Amino acid sequence: MSTKQHNLLSQASDEKKPRRKKTPTFQVELPVEVSEHQATSLQTNFEAARQLYNAILSLGLRRLQRMRADPGWNRARAIPRTRKAERKEAFATLRETHGFTDDAMQEAAKYLRVGHLAEHIEAVVCQVLATRAYRSLQRMVLGQAKKVRFKSKGRGLGSVENKRNDTGLRFAFVELLDEAVDTPPLSPMTSSSPGVQKGARRAGNHRRRQARQRGGQRSAGFVFWQGLQLRVRIDWRDPVIAHALACRVKYSRLIQRKASSKRAKGADASGFCYAVQLVVEGVPRRKPKHLVGHDVVGADLGPSTIAVVPREGEARLDVFCAALSPKAEHSKAIRRLQRKIDRQRRVANPLNYDEQGRIQKASKKKPLRWNKSRAEVCTQRRLATKERKRAAHRKSLHGKLAHEITAVGNTIILEKISYKAWQKQFGKSVSERAPGMFVEHLKRTVASTGGILIEVSTRTTKLSQFCHGCGACVKKPLALRVHACSCGIGPIQRDLYSAFLAAYLDVSDPDHPLPPACGQYVVPWQGGEARLQAAHAVVLQRAKEGQILPESMAVRRARVRRLESQSDSPLEPAIAPPLLWRHNRLEAWSGS
Ligand SMILES: [Zn+2]
Repeated sequence: MSTKQHNLLSQASDEKKPRRKKTPTFQVELPVEVSEHQATSLQTNFEAARQLYNAILSLGLRRLQRMRADPGWNRARAIPRTRKAERKEAFATLRETHGFTDDAMQEAAKYLRVGHLAEHIEAVVCQVLATRAYRSLQRMVLGQAKKVRFKSKGRGLGSVENKRNDTGLRFAFVELLDEAVDTPPLSPMTSSSPGVQKGARRAGNHRRRQARQRGGQRSAGFVFWQGLQLRVRIDWRDPVIAHALACRVKYSRLIQRKASSKRAKGADASGFCYAVQLVVEGVPRRKPKHLVGHDVVGADLGPSTIAVVPREGEARLDVFCAALSPKAEHSKAIRRLQRKIDRQRRVANPLNYDEQGRIQKASKKKPLRWNKSRAEVCTQRRLATKERKRAAHRKSLHGKLAHEITAVGNTIILEKISYKAWQKQFGKSVSERAPGMFVEHLKRTVASTGGILIEVSTRTTKLSQFCHGCGACVKKPLALRVHACSCGIGPIQRDLYSAFLAAYLDVSDPDHPLPPACGQYVVPWQGGEARLQAAHAVVLQRAKEGQILPESMAVRRARVRRLESQSDSPLEPAIAPPLLWRHNRLEAWSGS
């Protein structure tokens, strides 16, 4: 197709559908009950979706390669970034010519949905798969990814989603005449077909809503897909779920997960369990116990610590997700299973290792073949379950911490950190605690309360180097955990100090926060210093009680423990401990 035709087409489609208004969205996940017979059909559908996705991805990859081989590609790249419009135009033309746009991919996917694939995947779901493939290729174009992954048969596709809730994969309520749970619904949800009058649908909705208010006994939620009608387990007593189900469903996503075993609760014969994620319009329910504060909060996130300093309330320095330490029992169990898998692999494939126990080099002609014993498959399943549990635990800890911070204040200022760089430096701690994920979580929580989370650039603010006493920016080595300036500021734990600096930044323009200036901190520091010292004293007290804390909190474990046996009087939490210079670093030292 020529460029002109493409342009005409895209123009026509632009005119046809004006951009829909964006509305707030959240999602809720509900377990799905699947019978043995339904499980077989579902497996077939998921497999068809996988094949179709791979086909679309492959087609997109070819288009991308052709586009990059085009001489126009290098010409477009040569346009300096300062000439933004021209550069954008050049790339857009290239995309149109080679059919590398979302629309073109959706159009092309039509012709891939043939034969048995067409029987198992609807046109809408196919369009969503095309968009999904396009987005992952787009990451490659933008340099965010090096390659795209095809979904292997073993791993399969984890989810299939739709983009509307009236055709294809969809969620709907069906009225049950009998209150018994196992009764199949008498009339399938026909009211969602376009032919039905709007008024009738509204009346139906009203009746259903009333039934739900009565306790939801008479109407049950179902996922409809390709003739399958899957019952969704709904706990109407849970107010969070009840709130979500009262909102309009935009679209739904069917999730397929490996269960810990075939005998696990809710698993089908091949060890899968299913859930549906409903993407609904509105804002999620806020539990009454989660208060919303209105203070301005400065935060400093370290690989294993978090310092929170509000403008008025109490400051705190905590281990970030303490329960997820690499030394925790759960992480140790995961490590043990990983080692077990390694041993099992060595036993099953002795020829793939050399005398020193290293994996042999594979060549293109003779790739290594790996045998997988049944025991290894079993261990892998157990490992996957442990990891899934840890991820769920992490999410709940993140949520708890986010609510604790939001309860203090809902304007949060923190430094924008490259969590990717952290992964390289503090791999283990970061992979366990996922600080980047936490910031995203906090951002959502704060936004749902009407607040804002502002990430300021480290380059302009340099909070970890700045000293408000003299205005100097001095780089601290990683080992130096205390801010102590010759101008008389400090000594104070550095994370707490930079969180304090963040709390008082001028963020009247959230997109361009101003760098810190000495003047703005004179008044806050008068009360602030005592608050920060108190927060640090709490940490020292905890160390004294025997809690193991990261080095970065400026506590020395061994000495603090020894102190416990020497002194009888416990530390007053409000009194700042004196600090000593030792081995080129400042250390917290209580008593003498
Ligand atoms: Zn200074």
